[in-house]
Amino acid sequence: MRAAVLNEINKPWSLATLPDPKPAEGQVLIRMRASGMCGTDLHVHRGHIPVSLPKILGHEPVGEIVALGPGVTWLRTGDRVGVSWSQRGCGRCRACQEGRSLYCPEGQTWMHLGGGNADLMLAWATGCTLVPQGLSDADAAPIFCAGYTVLSGLRNAGPRPGDRVAVLGIGGLGHLALQYAKALGLEVFALTGTAAKKNEARGLGADEAIVASGDLGAGLLAAGGADIILGTTNSAAQATQALSGLGPEGRFVNMGALDGPIQADAMLLLSRQARIVGSMQNDRRDLVEALELAAAGKVRPRTELYPLEKVNEARMRLEAGQVRYRAVLQI
Ligand SMILES: [Zn+2]
Ligand SMILES: [Zn+2]
Repeated sequence: MRAAVLNEINKPWSLATLPDPKPAEGQVLIRMRASGMCGTDLHVHRGHIPVSLPKILGHEPVGEIVALGPGVTWLRTGDRVGVSWSQRGCGRCRACQEGRSLYCPEGQTWMHLGGGNADLMLAWATGCTLVPQGLSDADAAPIFCAGYTVLSGLRNAGPRPGDRVAVLGIGGLGHLALQYAKALGLEVFALTGTAAKKNEARGLGADEAIVASGDLGAGLLAAGGADIILGTTNSAAQATQALSGLGPEGRFVNMGALDGPIQADAMLLLSRQARIVGSMQNDRRDLVEALELAAAGKVRPRTELYPLEKVNEARMRLEAGQVRYRAVLQI
């Protein structure tokens, strides 16, 4: 099979021909069709998230199951599936016993079996989710990390009818966060420091786009404040600024791998009874809901498509902040 392989930190991913893998007990073999590229891939590329090398990246994979390992009874060859970051736990620790294997200290992810930037991918069957009809491979792929992450973020904020949601950072995650908040019937603001993204945010369904080159929180407060801020930026400075735009009992949900600590004003948190919530991909039902909303046409990832051979071109565009809004490899 062809594969894009990270051999060395900060070096271009090399296109290699590797032996076709075979699924072991509990695993499936997937013929890849689409593989989304996430900001987290850049952290891995730069060595900020350590993985054993060489490694095939790609944690937004969608494809067709072509072989089942022993013991896999509920999936079938021909099934169209995607694979989530968290694929299985040890089954025996406290978290696994509670059915919350995403907290398992020995949880298995793409880092163990390799990701989707290849013709074929191995995955634990427990990490696979069926892709609903009506959703293309390329549109389904970004849901498996970006869409899943932001819908869990929104659910983890406990949205109530009439809540005003501000999305901080309009990129791969943010452009989907806007659409999911809108799909759930909430009032949605886009919060950006880039004037050029104002019209784009409106086009994605934002009721209002607030461009604040000075202070994002002050800009948000001037527009009436937010009950929920979905933080998808990597900038700790922006997250810190945005906090002051929370209204009473507001929730700031951080989903970004920030470049530093959030500097929270204790008196602001106290006087508004505000909360800062950390959030990652949570219950699998958030992923299924995210896929179904996309299949129903209520959310549509904006993608740039690349063949596997152009994986480094896609990565460099992502590093330069030029991707609108998700780069997807078509395999
Ligand atoms: Zn990701
Ligand atoms: Zn466990």
